[in-house]
Amino acid sequence: MRIALVSEHASPLAALGGVDAGGQNVHVAALACALAELGHTVTVYTRRDDATLPDRVHAAPGVEVVHLLAGPPVAVPKDDLLPYLPELAAGLAADWADTPPDLVHAHFWMSGLVSLAAVETLGAAGHDRIPVVQTFHALGTVKRRYQGRDDTSPRERRTLEPWVGQSVAAIIATCTDEVTELTAMGVDPATVSVVPCGVDLSLFRPDGPREPVPENRTRIAVVGRLVPRKGVDLVIAALALLRDAGRDDVDLVIVGGGRSQNDMHEDPDGARLLGVAAAHGVSGQVILRGQIPQAELPAILRSVAVVVCAPWYEPFGITPLEAMACAVPVVAARVGGLGDSVVDGVTGIHVPPQDAPAIARAVGRLLDDPETAAALGSSGRARVSDGYSWDRIAAATVDVYRRVLADPVPRGAPAVPEDTFSRTAAAFAAPPVTVVGRRGHRP
Ligand code: UDP
Repeated sequence: MRIALVSEHASPLAALGGVDAGGQNVHVAALACALAELGHTVTVYTRRDDATLPDRVHAAPGVEVVHLLAGPPVAVPKDDLLPYLPELAAGLAADWADTPPDLVHAHFWMSGLVSLAAVETLGAAGHDRIPVVQTFHALGTVKRRYQGRDDTSPRERRTLEPWVGQSVAAIIATCTDEVTELTAMGVDPATVSVVPCGVDLSLFRPDGPREPVPENRTRIAVVGRLVPRKGVDLVIAALALLRDAGRDDVDLVIVGGGRSQNDMHEDPDGARLLGVAAAHGVSGQVILRGQIPQAELPAILRSVAVVVCAPWYEPFGITPLEAMACAVPVVAARVGGLGDSVVDGVTGIHVPPQDAPAIARAVGRLLDDPETAAALGSSGRARVSDGYSWDRIAAATVDVYRRVLADPVPRGAPAVPEDTFSRTAAAFAAPPVTVVGRRGHRP
């Protein structure tokens, strides 16, 4: 199968840990390689965010990454990309006119939008219609619920994202919770399959080097982007509660952010977290490591007693899988994908969202009972080995692709409200104009 993966802001080749570079980049990179290993030919399309990038990069056997020009070839926050999407859609249509893929798998709502637009352009030019499968990774409805006025998504997302959900041939949700959210958005649940993210089991494994930990100190860790909704502030507050309860031997290692360790005070999120640590009087116990290449993460994970994931909400969350793969128990907020991946009392401990005292109690329990912690850790490794290898995730993804290709007749998307089109047209006003979808125009 010739498969096009579209990931407009999240390049599989990007450094991880910054504001807009995390799980989606990892997902797209690993899925591309796993699909290629199954014998498929994969092309990943992403926006050019650096003028020096080559147009096409041979990233792995069977995987090519294509950098398409869409707006200035510099880093642009993903929430500011909408005006550049017509150019991206035109780039896709041009590439697909030469060598059309059998199927497009779009990642994030804006990729769905440009993929549908490109397919529409090709259809209007007489090409066969290429089915689009969609993975949202995150939903605007959920983001708005938790971030309210701090949500910087473009206003058009409110109408365009549901439209994408209703227009694509199939949706791959990454957790069961997402299916409820999609249904509330007006998506037909019959078009949705749940396939989680995977984890690199050969990189993240229990055996291997571990970072040295100073004598008489214990470490816990948080890994990921440091944006407020990831709840790292809560873990710092929990660290202070642990200290108040007599566990002053615990250090918190925080991995992620847009900078390296020595520059973390210049990273807006890093500076915020340093302030939180100072306010709680735990500056001496918080180690901000900055952005770390994934290859170096296992040694850090193996050196800690517990990994904490305390997001306000979480579309999936690959980090807990990586901890489990290293046989480290996870304390996880019971939200989104963490409700599926971390099994309470088996591979870790669930805590209510946004509850620093509950995090402190759960971490304290595991630190005080290393035997139970070790048992949860090895169950975690068993769980991810059984269900979350990328070859397994790729096979489940291909099952969805095959179902879509076997049933090319769309399921009758609801008529798109008129204002969706006016907003779409407005968003896509800059030439070359590509009108996304047409009322009643589904083949
Ligand atoms: N990551 C990394 N280095 C960092 C910070 C994060 O390699 O400094 C990786 C981490 O290992 C994980 C991904 O970025 O694979 C974060 O994915 P997750 O799904 O946990 O969070 P998201 O970024 O999607 O919100």
